[in-house]
Amino acid sequence: MSDIVAADINELAHLQGTELLARYQASLMGVFGTPQRVLVRGTGSLVWDADGNEYLDLLAGIAVNALGHAHPLLNSVATSQMATLGHISNFFTSPTQIGLAEKLLELTAAPAGSKVFFTNSGTEANEAAFKLARRNAGTPQKPRTRIVALEQGFHGRSMGALALTWKQAYREPFEPLPGGVEWVPAGDVDALRAAVDDSVAAIFIEPIQGEAGVVPLPAGYLAAAREIASAAGALLVFDEVQTGIGRTGKWFASEGVLPDAMTLAKGLGGGFPIGALVTFGDTASTLLSAGQHGTTFGGNPVATACALATLHVIESQQLLAHVQTTGAVLREQLATLDCVTEVRGEGLLIGFDLAADVAPALVRHALDAGFIINAPGPRTLRLAPPLIITAEQLGTFVEALPALYVAALAESQEQA
Ligand SMILES: *Cc1c(COP(=O)(O)O)cnc(C)c1O
Repeated sequence: MSDIVAADINELAHLQGTELLARYQASLMGVFGTPQRVLVRGTGSLVWDADGNEYLDLLAGIAVNALGHAHPLLNSVATSQMATLGHISNFFTSPTQIGLAEKLLELTAAPAGSKVFFTNSGTEANEAAFKLARRNAGTPQKPRTRIVALEQGFHGRSMGALALTWKQAYREPFEPLPGGVEWVPAGDVDALRAAVDDSVAAIFIEPIQGEAGVVPLPAGYLAAAREIASAAGALLVFDEVQTGIGRTGKWFASEGVLPDAMTLAKGLGGGFPIGALVTFGDTASTLLSAGQHGTTFGGNPVATACALATLHVIESQQLLAHVQTTGAVLREQLATLDCVTEVRGEGLLIGFDLAADVAPALVRHALDAGFIINAPGPRTLRLAPPLIITAEQLGTFVEALPALYVAALAESQEQA
């Protein structure tokens, strides 16, 4: 860190966690509640807080840090790109931007004509997909005014992405939102077929519903959605923001079914913010023309260099195979525990249900024991560790889990 920046935060760097959290509460918006810890450094799958406590990071910044923390190649690529050319706007392009677009088209096995638009986040990628969907407008006689999404689906918090998101509590305070969105029960092919006709502009689907608690769709559902969308002339959009980039042990969870558009973000930059909307075939060229969408930061040289480095490491270290084997072992081990009633997910995107509604308390006890995990529901826990995590590291959590469950249960019984 430069001396100037170091001097600015020098005082803060010497404060304890509780003091820093008080400063946080006085200066940051309360939308996230109180953060669980103040983190100061990390390496691989480990992070440390301001009080010197060590944690095994089983969440990876919510399925983001594919290569863990402070990965040497990511660090050197980010710093050398910043030292060479940092930001240029989209009035210009750069070799890394072009290289990343080509790489994503290769990894998605995209047909001729397929195109990429870069964003800074998953929300923005879905926002771009929403605008693309609006351009599939139909005719004045037969307008396409409807968009179909899935119950329990999550697509982000900006107005368009929020309009696609199912949870009413997220949407209601901000209405009116962009209209025309309806939700059908996730995984029900007949319900989807009944809802989709030539008044539908697009169908939005997460191949595995992450925020809902890592809930998979039945086998064949994505292929059926493809057939239904094609028959109606609706765009099929897969939101792979959480599931993409090796998270499930495949490059993309939807592999084998080609959508009209796919959104990516979380794991793509290995921790550097970047998202993407990938459109397949002539989708983009028929719907979007010059000037109809834009971004200042999206696809800048540093972000695209970081994403290229992340994809390179996933490939050269054969992390997809590693994710498949470590994920399968972890799911098997979790399923043998008495406190676990159901295990879901693929690769290293795992959700599991507990025998009682103690997930939030268990997250706190896990933190005290040195494990970062997440509770997307009252009895559901989610694990999305770095793709580089070892089976041994995952094993330490499985070993600790029964005692954490007992402690969380005891706490909830005390309160009752
Ligand atoms: C996280 C997430 C988003 C939102 O991405 P941000 O980068 O937080 O804007 C959208 N869709 C899915 C499926 C996600 O998991």
